[in-house]
Amino acid sequence: MKGSAGRKPAGTAGEKVEGPPGPSVPVSSPAPESHTDSNLSHVLHEADDDVESSPSSEELDHDAFAERLFSHLTLEEDQPKQPQALDSLDLAGIAACIKSGKARNIILMCGAGISVSAGIPDFRTPGTGLYDNLQKYNLPDPTAVFEIGFFRKNPHPFYMLAKELYPGNFKPTTAHYFIRLLEKKGLLLRCFTQNIDSLEREAGVSSDKIVAAHGNFDGAHCIDCKGAVATENVKTAVLKAGQPLHCSRCGGLVKPDIVFFGENLPSRFFKRSQEDYPKCDLLIVTGTSLVVHPFAGLIDAVSNETPRVLINREVAGEADARLRKLGFNKGFIFGEDSWRDVLHLGDCDASIRRLCQLLDWEDELDALISPTAGSHKL
Ligand SMILES: [Zn+2]
Repeated sequence: MKGSAGRKPAGTAGEKVEGPPGPSVPVSSPAPESHTDSNLSHVLHEADDDVESSPSSEELDHDAFAERLFSHLTLEEDQPKQPQALDSLDLAGIAACIKSGKARNIILMCGAGISVSAGIPDFRTPGTGLYDNLQKYNLPDPTAVFEIGFFRKNPHPFYMLAKELYPGNFKPTTAHYFIRLLEKKGLLLRCFTQNIDSLEREAGVSSDKIVAAHGNFDGAHCIDCKGAVATENVKTAVLKAGQPLHCSRCGGLVKPDIVFFGENLPSRFFKRSQEDYPKCDLLIVTGTSLVVHPFAGLIDAVSNETPRVLINREVAGEADARLRKLGFNKGFIFGEDSWRDVLHLGDCDASIRRLCQLLDWEDELDALISPTAGSHKL
């Protein structure tokens, strides 16, 4: 599957968020995978199960059918081998790519993982104060706090969560300042974030360079008449009164512009992803488990030659080996088959610092962090 340059990103205008809307908390619950692949993957999993039991004649027919089907597809072995896009498929290779000047339009994709060291609480984990506080509202599920139907009936849990997560309560991390450093050096094309904590902006990244895929607290609207509401009024309601705000025009509930389940992503997400990804010459993905679509699908919107690095605590977004054999090259391809994908497992801040060391940027990074160093410096 060559020549994906200019291919339209996974999301299209009007597409709705399929998984949790990506609050600034680690996503621990499984979210749906992408449409077609997920379905096919499911079928393949079932096929695995069949192999383990003794095959019936019907199953043998399935096998024969599958064999005939696969014989008509372009198999992985038939695809031309890609030239390696990096000197080495590790952080040093990424650093060398940046140093060489080949990467001048870097896109950074980030998720909850980069805000963990800022102390953003994981409200889904039983035992954390935030989750326990939400329990008094008898939520059917912690994620109900981001469901519009539930919000309409009971906005109190969301307003309570908003009070905890409201920008200003937390300080940016090393990873956030790295984004600022990339911008300062003129290398950041865009930062696509799933986080609603606005810590990228807090670290000094220009609003123009940030795409808040799942929204944030920078705006608010009435859920009924859709009228815009001054964020100062929302801030007062959230932080001081702790009470849901009602629209002065129609009395409807006011909701900060955080994307809830089933809601459209901001139009800026689609516009920027369609224009930016074809220009991207290095994709850095960090602190995200890449399970929420359409955000997760963006990793495949860069060209087939663009180097991609995942800096994360665990592997994420990896292509299904069996689907790859059928020519579906969606997702990261790590390991010996990789020609441009780098996997660096570890803590986001420590790994980003390591990358900055390899770039000889550590002093500049620390200069950005210094006013708030102390607890964040590793
Ligand atoms: Zn209204």
